[in-house]
Amino acid sequence: MKIICIGRNYTDHIAELENEKPENPVVFLKPDTAILLKGQPFFIPEFSQDVHHEVEVLVRINRIGKHIQPKFASKYYDEISLGIDFTARDLQAQLKAKGLPWEKAKGFDGAAVVGKWIAKQELPPVDKLNFALNKNNETVQESNTALMLWKIDELIAYISQFFTLKIGDIIFTGTPAGVGPVAINDVLVGKLEGRELFNIKVK
Ligand code: ZN
Repeated sequence: MKIICIGRNYTDHIAELENEKPENPVVFLKPDTAILLKGQPFFIPEFSQDVHHEVEVLVRINRIGKHIQPKFASKYYDEISLGIDFTARDLQAQLKAKGLPWEKAKGFDGAAVVGKWIAKQELPPVDKLNFALNKNNETVQESNTALMLWKIDELIAYISQFFTLKIGDIIFTGTPAGVGPVAINDVLVGKLEGRELFNIKVK
């Protein structure tokens, strides 16, 4: 399986990192080894002094597809979750400054938190989902998928022009504002429509 991530999909987050609003979705991949194993803490890697949390809505692909049209995209997933795109912001800034790929800053072991999956029928429409990240019982990121620049079905259509989507592939749909550093002993809890989908301890 592969993990496909979208960058710069919420205007408020583009502004906080002083990035330009993109013409097309920003797409990057994480390897499958980036998935944080269930029940495991997240270990801050030794190569970074500034690892940030990015809470994101996740979609799991349930059938193979290429060149999917937006109007058919909803047939390609039936489960939604919430995750964290952990980012070594210091390393990413160095790589961005040199025009180099981001993989080391975003694809390291444990950098992809994948929460519990929920059937989409149990939730409001996918473009109207409230979600939040709590750090040590304080809300640090809170948004709604209605605020995405590109909606989930548009993202699936766009991504599938480049990559064949396969069963089990996971899409990270981008983070809203409020990203920030994590420290040892932090506890990160992700909630989608009030349901707790992950609870991660930082080590
Ligand atoms: Zn992200």
